[in-house]
Amino acid sequence: MKTARDNAEKIKEISGANPQKCMKCGKCSATCPAFNEMDIKPHQFVSYVAEENIDALMQSETLWKCLSCFACVERCPRDVKPGKLIDAARQMVVRQRGADYLKAEEIPELLDPELPQQLLVSAFRRYKR
Ligand code: SF4
Ligand code: SF4
Repeated sequence: MKTARDNAEKIKEISGANPQKCMKCGKCSATCPAFNEMDIKPHQFVSYVAEENIDALMQSETLWKCLSCFACVERCPRDVKPGKLIDAARQMVVRQRGADYLKAEEIPELLDPELPQQLLVSAFRRYKR
């Protein structure tokens, strides 16, 4: 059974980020295009990891609202990488859930030619367990 500390360490390991460096300036949240959609804002997410309050993060809508644009990573003056922490937490939830949500054979043969490939990659990342 993984503890909150184990999960916090895993998020830091996967992301390569150090939330302890955060100075709570809020610039990551100020620059985030998905801010309004998130229940835990990027700067708060960083604090939750630092405080090992992981259960709340794992159930957070923020995991599925973050666009992985990494504008927050660019903006952070302390190189904390909030978007990478969110990405890492999402990966952990996806891994813990087990089997696939989205299978390659479920993707229709005829896709809209205008569909950006990044959308498919993103869908696999979010729904492939
Ligand atoms: S921009 Fe960086 S230092 Fe500022 S609150 Fe966000 S993570 Fe912390
Ligand atoms: S990576 Fe996620 S948290 Fe960071 S600015 Fe983009 S949408 Fe917001």
